[in-house]
Order: sequence, then C-alpha cells, then structure tokens
Amino acid sequence: MNAINIYDIAIIGAGPTGSLLSLLLAGQGYNILLVDKRNLDSYPPIRQKACGGLLSPDAQRVLASLNLNLPNDVLANPQLFSVTTIDLNTRLSRNYQRFYLNMDREKFDRYLSSKIHPNVSKRYSVLVSKIEYADNLYVIHTNTNEKFSSKILIGCDGAGSIVRKIFFKQDKLSVKPYYAIQHVYKCEDASAKYYAIFDKTLTDYSGWAFPKDNTFTVGMAFPEGADGNSLFDKLVYKLQDYGLSVNEVIRREGSLLLRPNGYAKVFAKNNSTLFLAGEAAGYVSPSSAEGFSFAFNSACALYESFKKGGNIAKHYRNKTKKMRITLFIKVIKAHLLYNQFIRKVIMTCNIRAIK
Ligand SMILES: Cc1cc2nc3c(=O)[nH]c(=O)nc-3n(C[C@H](O)[C@H](O)[C@H](O)COP(=O)(O)OP(=O)(O)OC[C@H]3O[C@@H](n4cnc5c(N)ncnc54)[C@H](O)[C@@H]3O)c2cc1C
Repeated sequence: MNAINIYDIAIIGAGPTGSLLSLLLAGQGYNILLVDKRNLDSYPPIRQKACGGLLSPDAQRVLASLNLNLPNDVLANPQLFSVTTIDLNTRLSRNYQRFYLNMDREKFDRYLSSKIHPNVSKRYSVLVSKIEYADNLYVIHTNTNEKFSSKILIGCDGAGSIVRKIFFKQDKLSVKPYYAIQHVYKCEDASAKYYAIFDKTLTDYSGWAFPKDNTFTVGMAFPEGADGNSLFDKLVYKLQDYGLSVNEVIRREGSLLLRPNGYAKVFAKNNSTLFLAGEAAGYVSPSSAEGFSFAFNSACALYESFKKGGNIAKHYRNKTKKMRITLFIKVIKAHLLYNQFIRKVIMTCNIRAIK
C-alpha cells in the first residue's frame, strides 16, 4: 500500500450531492478527489441507486440557477403531469397536479459526472472501507488497497454514510430509518400513471408506482426491522384491485432511507475540515422522500461557504438554515399527511384535487 498525493479535498460519493459539489468546487483552485463505489465511467452500470428519478420543481430551480440543462436522453418516457393518490384503507383515490420531470436516475448521475471538470481526480468502482484522521490529514482506505490523503473530507455518501459512521458517531441524527423496496417490472402500457400509495397496515410511510421507459416500478418504504418483503408482496396483491397488475420482474432494488423527524442539524467539525452533505446528513423530504432538491441545495451551500472562506462551518450552518427550516416544515406536514383522518378529510373535500 502506497500513500499517494495529498488532496486538498476528498469527496466521498458521486451521487447528486457529491457530483454537483465537485462540479462547483472544481473551479476554485483545489486539488480534489471524488470517490464512488459505482462504475459511473463504464458500462453496464452495476450497484445502481434505488430511486424514483423524479426531479421536483425545487430541484429543477437549482439546476436552472446553475445553467445546467438536461439532455433529452436523461429524460424517461412518459412525462407525468399528475399523481393519483390512493389510500388502500379508506379506498379513496384522487388526482393532484404535479410538475416533476421523469428521468433515468442512472443516466442523470452519469450526466452530472460528465460535467465535472477533468482537473477533479475521479476514482470510480472504488469502495471506501476505512478512514482515519491523523496529523491533520484524512487517510482514506479502499477495497482496491489504495490509500488517499486529504486535508478536508466531505461525506456525500448517502444514507449509509461511512463518513458519518466514523466521524459523527456521537451526533444524534433526527431521523427514523426505513428500508425502501422497489421492484421494476416490464410494462408496455403507455397510459400507466404515477401513484402515491398509503396503507397504514403496511407502513407508516408511503408507497409509489410509476412508469418509466417500458417499465413500471412499484415501491414502498418500511420501518427498519419490519418484514419488508412479505409486506411488499401484500402491497402488490392489494394493487391488483386498482388494475395495477404486474408481471415479469426486471430488477429488485432496496435502499436505506432516512426520514427526518426533527430539526435537521449541520454536520461540520474538526476546524472546518470535515462535513456531511445531502442524504448523508439526513437531508431528504420526510413527506415524499424527495431528495434531489436537498442534495443540490446542501451542495450549493457548502460550495458557497468554501468560496467565502474563513469559518466555513459557520457559513455552512447559515447557508443551510432556510433549507433546514423547509425540511422542518415538511416534518410537520408529514405528521398531517400521514394522519389517516386528516388525509381522508383532505381527499373527501377534494382540496387541490383535479376534478
Ligand atoms: C427508493 C427511493 C426512491 C427515491 N426517489 C426519489 C425521487 O424520485 N426524487 C427525489 O428527488 N428523490 C428520491 N429519492 C431520494 C434521493 O434518491 C436521494 O435523496 C438522493 O439520491 C441523495 O443524493 P446523495 O448524493 O446525497 O446520496 P446518494 O444518491 O445516495 O449518493 C451517494 C453516493 O455515495 C456512494 N457511496 C456510498 N458509500 C460509499 C463508500 N463507502 N465508498 C464509495 N462510495 C460510496 C454511492 O455509491 C452513491 O453513488 C429516493 C430515495 C429512495 C431510497
């Protein structure tokens, strides 16, 4: 094992947060390392991230502010203008207008990665297995038996963040852990719609179903420890009553999902040399699991904090304040939305529903 090159900044994770942050910081004169276990630079993709790939208006706004347009081939068929909300317990169903972009998540991540300036050293298909902090340097060990050193470490490594587990063990994350299960089925039905699914006998979170490029995805998030697989089978069985019969499974996916249940914190320590951003810090909507906007906003906040210099941790705290308040409002909204009585009233009264 040889120690190579001391980087100014090492970013672990090239998902939406890590890639956007690398893209932005690349022009600031830092020597940057970006590591991801996924093979974002070769085909076929392995270890794909389980995700709906729906880009919310808030996330679109951040991309627009950065002049980042989406190439057509990142978009998926069809584009969806509404969500049909189904409560499997009350058997109520309503349509609501939505303005998401339906994307291919893997292609989106690869597109963002392709926009990163070549002066960032990308190390893909490399799993970070251990990180140590000694003599003011972070030493990153990998499954390829390499060792990288950096002065600053940023964990953009998602819900299961190794950076958080090693360096923020004592810090309480205000989240409840869930495990999301998604099955992707073959589907030729061009009229398939986007569904949000509630069933309190299966989960206290939600389920979803949507078409994407000749496939139909069904998913649901279950509290950690629940028997997700059998609950998922029950969900699929119940959906038949709504004409949502599925057949050939193409892919089975699963992912940890951290659902905020309090005021989100800022993870920054060691004299502004250690940070978490995106889902690693628990920044994801507790009501809809929408995470791109929080990934982008936290990446932008951290970039602007670096640009400002000085007490970067303090700037990061200030610049994420609005986003963290938004998250907290969504925690309150989730309490209302996931209360069956309140949801029934909203749906029965047709509040904001498409008539
Ligand atoms: C089932 C599901 C569906 C979702 N659907 C949507 C949706 O439709 N719209 C939406 O806005 N949000 C959605 N989300 C949330 C969204 O996926 C996340 O909020 C978003 O991906 C967070 O981005 P991130 O870059 O912070 O983390 P991630 O996207 O999780 O990226 C983390 C990266 O770090 C890498 N990594 C992790 N550990 C290591 C390691 N030890 N070594 C090397 N690399 C590592 C991973 O390979 C990954 O590429 C969904 C989430 C789930 C679970």
